[in-house]
Order: sequence, then structure tokens, then C-alpha cells
Amino acid sequence: MATRFLIIGAGFSGAVLAHELSKMGDCIIEVWDERNHIGGNCFTERDEETEIMVHKYGPHIFNTDRKEIWDYVNSFTEFRPYVHRVKAMHNGKVYSLPINLYTLNQLFGQTFTPQTAKEFLERLGDKKIMHPKNFEEQALHFIGEELYRAFFYGYTKKQWGCEPSELPASILKRIPVRFNYDDNYHNNIFTGIPVEGYTVLIQKLLDHPSIHIHLNKKFYSSEDTNEYAHVFYTGPIDAYFNYEFGKLGYRTVRFESSIHEGDFQGVAQMNYCDENIPYTRITEHKHFTPWELHKKSIIFKEFSKETGENDIPYYPKRLKKDKELLAFYRNKANSLKKISFLGRLATYRYMDMHHVIGEAINFSKIFSEAFEVKKTLPIFPNKEIDFI
Ligand code: UDP
Repeated sequence: MATRFLIIGAGFSGAVLAHELSKMGDCIIEVWDERNHIGGNCFTERDEETEIMVHKYGPHIFNTDRKEIWDYVNSFTEFRPYVHRVKAMHNGKVYSLPINLYTLNQLFGQTFTPQTAKEFLERLGDKKIMHPKNFEEQALHFIGEELYRAFFYGYTKKQWGCEPSELPASILKRIPVRFNYDDNYHNNIFTGIPVEGYTVLIQKLLDHPSIHIHLNKKFYSSEDTNEYAHVFYTGPIDAYFNYEFGKLGYRTVRFESSIHEGDFQGVAQMNYCDENIPYTRITEHKHFTPWELHKKSIIFKEFSKETGENDIPYYPKRLKKDKELLAFYRNKANSLKKISFLGRLATYRYMDMHHVIGEAINFSKIFSEAFEVKKTLPIFPNKEIDFI
């Protein structure tokens, strides 16, 4: 009889896992998702009125330094090169991001060379902070008060709903500082956007006779899963345990969408860094596919807020209290059998798509090898709770 696996969640984690497990041969893989579509927060679809490919849950740009991950996604669907250029609005003026030579010249009214900019930033950085312990200290240590206040303090407070001093330093490490005029938002070797959108990529991953997708199907941990050899859960870990120890902090995002003639802001993403502007950024979706021509434009104003009862969790906050809670949940999960926890929500980490994909490929290898020789099955893909 075919081995039955159950995967909860049809985002990247669930889809990659299903695809990889389908290579095991005689098995049936059920994928459940409570939404009415696959793709999780990477879901894209063409807007009816403008025909623009819309990133329904916010901008997703594929970046990675790992050739094998780039080759993997490209083997399912065509990607076109795309360089993400972000602008920042501060005090009614537009600046270049990430912080680069041009931003420094703009903000300080200078004409720095790479060398003089480096020396200048050295002097700005607060070197009394020897070992930055949080986002704010990290920023003050490396870029100093003025740049921090202009571009990070307000945006971060709006985005995360707390003081940046409560947040991990690792969030800031996502953003580079450059001493040249390179304004590519990402540092990675491979970067692109799938021509047909992310939903098609996920569809192709799931396109296998052994994989059965069930949409609008919510999973309850009280569910009888005895018929499955193993369950892979990619939803929020606290929800799996009915919030027994309390709720993990997540930020969610609300979008205000509107349609305009022509070009709205001339760039895919404009960040609004000041605290007095209620939204964090405006994304203009047609700029994610510069190879397409559209007369109209659709924009999303992005508002960040605490995740309520019926909201979709986006960003794990990972405050001190969240990490303590997470340890309880992980402990409990580690005592269970026939279940694994995988992906951004189940491992409670701020992961990019390439992290999620790489980890799901790796995990399925470890899992299937252990499963075949009846060895202990892995429960989590990561050991540390604060890995990314
Ligand atoms: N950030 C900021 N100002 C900006 C852009 C980013 O303060 O103009 C901070 C903010 O805390 C954000 C983090 O840097 O959460 C990471 O930014 P990134 O653009 O990687 O966020 P994402 O696109 O994942 O929302």
C-alpha cells in the first residue's frame, strides 16, 4: 500500500517538500491549505483591470547566492533578471537606498569619494557600543545617529510596532551600506522575477500524480492523522498547540490598493521612513516586470500592524518574550512523533524564499533517508531558534 504523507500549507515550504517527497516513489502526498489558493504569501495573480502581475501579499524578489537554488527554481519556470531599486522618502525628499555614496552625498550635502565616505562613516558610528546587542545599537554603531534617524528609526518603529532597541540586530544586517553608487537593494549573485509569477512556479512544484491538493481546508491539531505515515506542518507553531503557552508575536500587513493612469512613482518600491506617515512603503507592481508594457498602474500602500485573530501572520517579531515562548513550543514539539515543523511560520524565523526552499530540499533528503531505513525522523530543520 502506498505511504501517505500529509503536508499542511501550500507555500514554498510545503510545495518544495511535496515535490521532493514525490520522488520517493510509492506514496500519496496530500497538501492542505486553509486559503483558496496555493503559494502562501508568495501568491501572485494578474489584476483583472490592468493585467499587471500583482504580488498579492507584498513584494517578493528572488535572490540567492546559491547556484543550486537558482538552478532549481529556474528548472520549473523562466526567471528574468530583475534588479530591485528602492527609494526612500524622508522629510519630503527622495533618497537613494540602500545607503550608498549617493545617499551620503544627498543627506550631508557632500561630494564624497569612496574613501572619504568611509572615513566619514567611521567617525559617525558610535564606537562606545562595542558589541551591538539589538537593532538600534547595531545601527548607531555602524552608521550613527543622523542616518539612523533619517532612514531606520521611524520605518522600523512603524514596521515592527516597538522600539528598535527591542529588536534583534540581525534585522538590520539584511541591509547593506555601500561606498559606491550601487543602488541594487540586494547583494546576491542571482536575482530575478518569474515571468509567469510565483503561483505558476508553485503549481509546477505541485504538479505530480502523487500530490493531491486540498484548498479551503483548515488543519486542526485535534485532527485524526493516523492514516498518514507522517505529517509536515508549515503553519504557525503556536497555532498548532492552540496557543497553549501564549501567542508568539507577529506583524501583519494591510494593503490599500489603488489604480492609476501611467506611472505612479517611477519605481517598484518607495519607503516612507518618517514616523508621521502612517504607511511603511508603496509598491508599484508593474515595475517588477519591466519587460511588460501597461498603460495603467496598480499600487499598494502598506500598513503594518499587530497580528489579530483573523490576520495572516507575516513577520515574526522575535522579541525576548517570543524567544522564551518559542523554546516552550519547540520543547513540546520535540516530544511528538510522526510530525515535523518546517518553514517561516513553524520555525518562527524571518526567512527569505531561497532560505525556505533550500531548507525544504535539505530536510526532505534527511527525512526520506531516515524514513527508508526506519531511523529517528527529524522534527525541525534547524537546531538553533535564532538562526536567521
Ligand atoms: N528598514 C528601515 N528602513 C528602510 C528599509 C528597511 O528601517 O527604508 C528596516 C526595517 O526594520 C525592516 C528591515 O530594515 O524591517 C529589513 O528591511 P527589508 O527591506 O529587508 O524588509 P522586507 O522587504 O523583508 O519587509
